[in-house]
Amino acid sequence: MNTFRSTERTITLLALNKTKPRSNYVASRKLTNKTPKAHVSYISSRYTPRIKLYNGLASSIQDRAPLSSTENKLPTLQQTLQVSLLNPNKPGPAGLEQLVMPPIVPLTAPRFPTKQDIPSVTKVLQATMPAASKFLLEKWKESMIKKLGAAGFAKYQADTFERGRALHALLATQLLGKGEPTAGKAELSTEVVSNLWKSIQNVVRDKISNVRLVEHIVTHPTMNYRGIVDCVAFYENELVVIDFKTAEKPKKTVESLFDNPLQVTAYCGAINNDSSIPSHVIDRNISSGVVIVAYIDGSEATTYHLECEKVSHNYWKQWIERLDQYSRMEELNKKKTITVKKS
Ligand code: MN
Repeated sequence: MNTFRSTERTITLLALNKTKPRSNYVASRKLTNKTPKAHVSYISSRYTPRIKLYNGLASSIQDRAPLSSTENKLPTLQQTLQVSLLNPNKPGPAGLEQLVMPPIVPLTAPRFPTKQDIPSVTKVLQATMPAASKFLLEKWKESMIKKLGAAGFAKYQADTFERGRALHALLATQLLGKGEPTAGKAELSTEVVSNLWKSIQNVVRDKISNVRLVEHIVTHPTMNYRGIVDCVAFYENELVVIDFKTAEKPKKTVESLFDNPLQVTAYCGAINNDSSIPSHVIDRNISSGVVIVAYIDGSEATTYHLECEKVSHNYWKQWIERLDQYSRMEELNKKKTITVKKS
């Protein structure tokens, strides 16, 4: 990424106000190295100090004061798509793979309280599920209910949720360095959980190291979404976002993960921009992910590496489009609610 581009992106990102809804994207404007000084101060005068720019171009960039004419309008998709996955004030990810980060005690974040007015990544993805996926999901539900009955299917869903919860809890303990789970202990009490651990343990032991975050709440301050990331750690030589999943049948293609790559990508964007994460915990941009699928029969887990190129372009763009779609749906719902109240 060249300087010219970074600067431009810096302005675009900083033109957003942390405390305001996404409408502030409208204020995105280009500021280049060639921008006359007068123009810089014109822009600066409308912002409050936040982050230093490189280049000595301006010593502080400031938040936009609300422009009343645009305040209630959502930005266009085109404007939203200008937002980068990366934080221009952080290095990497390229070229930093080999740099050492000192080990830390991994951070976890309390799950509550969370800002309820900020939607979670899962909520956004669920609400904007593509028609084709929705269709497949409905078909699958129908066939399952036919096979198991309504009560049987409800139990099946509860069991699926429970095995996911159990594996995530077990992994959290393991990743926080609190020792290996042992057979007979509560954490490996059921056959399913023992099998899931058997399926995933080699990957966790051999590939994951220098854990930075575990089950941590992350928030994208300007795009207004949040989520709980399973893990941020080195996977072999690269700092990545890791997501764990459980499955019954082998997941042989990345398509079989449905929206999971978008979820991981959304977490990358949030982590890169979440100022509550100290730089000794994460010192660089993260733009790749790893999805690890553990199987209930204990067979070797499948690992999907979501490459930087795909994450920063394809997946990030898709995620932003979904987020944009969600904001519009919400906007419409709000209007409907108001209309109902009035009538
Ligand atoms: Mn997970």
